[in-house]
Amino acid sequence: MQLDQSSTTNRHQLYADFITHYRTVLNKLFRESQNHRNVSVKRGIPPMMMRDIMQCHPLNVFISEEHGGFGGEVRECLSMLEASSYESLPLSLMMGINGALFIQPVTRYAHTNVAATVMERFTNEHAMGGLMITEPGYGSDALHMQTCFQNENNGYRIKGTKHWGGLTGWADYWLLTARRQKADGTLARDIDFFIHDSRNPGVEVEEYFDNLGLYMLPYGRNKINAHVPGSFRLQPPSTGIKMMLDMLHRSRLQFPGMAMGFLRRIMDDSLEHVKTRNVGGKSLLHYDQVKERIVRIQSWFTSCSAMCNYTSEHAAITKDLSLEDVPANSIKSVVTDMMQDASQSFLQLVGANGYRMDHMAGRGIIDSRPFQIFEGSNDILYQQITESVLKKMRKAGLTSLYDYLKSYELTSKASEYIKKYADVTIDQSLSQRKQVILGKMLGYTVSMNMVIQLGERGFNSHLIHNTLEILTTDIGNLLEAVHHTGETIPAESIDQDGDWFGFVKA
Ligand SMILES: Cc1cc2nc3c(=O)[nH]c(=O)nc-3n(C[C@H](O)[C@H](O)[C@H](O)COP(=O)(O)OP(=O)(O)OC[C@H]3O[C@@H](n4cnc5c(N)ncnc54)[C@H](O)[C@@H]3O)c2cc1C
Repeated sequence: MQLDQSSTTNRHQLYADFITHYRTVLNKLFRESQNHRNVSVKRGIPPMMMRDIMQCHPLNVFISEEHGGFGGEVRECLSMLEASSYESLPLSLMMGINGALFIQPVTRYAHTNVAATVMERFTNEHAMGGLMITEPGYGSDALHMQTCFQNENNGYRIKGTKHWGGLTGWADYWLLTARRQKADGTLARDIDFFIHDSRNPGVEVEEYFDNLGLYMLPYGRNKINAHVPGSFRLQPPSTGIKMMLDMLHRSRLQFPGMAMGFLRRIMDDSLEHVKTRNVGGKSLLHYDQVKERIVRIQSWFTSCSAMCNYTSEHAAITKDLSLEDVPANSIKSVVTDMMQDASQSFLQLVGANGYRMDHMAGRGIIDSRPFQIFEGSNDILYQQITESVLKKMRKAGLTSLYDYLKSYELTSKASEYIKKYADVTIDQSLSQRKQVILGKMLGYTVSMNMVIQLGERGFNSHLIHNTLEILTTDIGNLLEAVHHTGETIPAESIDQDGDWFGFVKA
């Protein structure tokens, strides 16, 4: 017992030393070093900078002790992601891709010997890994991917085309996804995952993309014609699709780690700006509309803190998360909307200087935007939250939204705050656009519940109070919008009577 306790203390001390050192190194690299000025507006990352970052061994937070890492404790993973995104969102995404889209899936599902060999290269050689799911014809509709595999020489031959895999041309390992090609040439429904070692041929970059933001990360289109040994196929406990859901939910639940430092930085820098910028003889912070924007930024910071708290306690690497669609989809879509909203407000408050290419405000808008698209487009995730909740309401025989929210553990505390809006009957046959709005309302309610829980533990009461007020108003507005949104149909052609010029009275 004594031995266990002291080894846990040692482990925590090792982690504490690491994170302090990591923060100092990043601060120096991103702010003080003359060599790395404007690194955010140049593509790639200077090799010396990369060397200094990787020498801190940040990816060890995702790796089990058995494989030479710090142990993979979720709150430590989130805290490393936070430290990274406080200085650079693309850097944090780079760490997030490695951790959530490669190391954690390999830890959970790879053959033990294979996981040990691969992880050894991460801890000793700073190896990197990414995940390829998306294809040019199949993004949101990934289950219909056309990349396929067949058995060949004690292993598998995988063929297809993948694009937008983060770390294109850079990763030492890839998780490749494919469907089995059956004897009749058609593809099986299930999805399988294979580890590809980039020292072997078979993943060739056909084109590098000029991505709009996230300059540090390379993206592109890859032709796949790879052979992987039999033991390099991941071992799903049941279906591959269930394994994929577990991976994606785990990754979505960890988005708040990447968002946390980003929002904290925006909160710090925007507050500093509005205190020091004088307009009309007084600092910006004196203006009521400016206060409103700052309160919203601080509320997104608080909501994200609550999500980090939730994820730390509910997403241990030992836990199957394949059924956790509501918390995972709520957290991912709400926190990424908050990232975009906070950066829009930051740029508004900074004014013209924020529009300089090298200013964090403008870069934040561009760099955070794809978070609303990848790993599940937010529009689709919001709809899925509604579908899931409506199904649970049907099963429970409930029609009142308030009754359901009160009975559901992820919303029960929040339900009291929004009772006056939520005491309505929900129609099971809502249009898709209404399902999306309702899903957003539900996602905000789930987030609000987490904020209440964080408040109960003693988090800053001023921030909690403001956040609950903002969320209550937003949730009320969203519910109103569900009722008032019409069923308008887009015009497919505007050729007829569509030019204002002809309608001006001479
Ligand atoms: C910066 C960046 C990083 C990425 N990283 C990776 C990665 O590491 N690995 C990887 O495999 N992929 C990655 N992707 C790809 C990403 O996951 C896909 O872009 C995403 O799944 C959407 O697919 P798509 O681009 O083909 O868009 P589409 O599937 O064409 O969808 C476009 C839009 O259409 C709408 N839409 C689609 N379906 C529906 C529907 N059923 N109902 C209503 N509206 C709908 C949504 O608004 C959606 O955003 C990345 C993308 C970006 C931009």
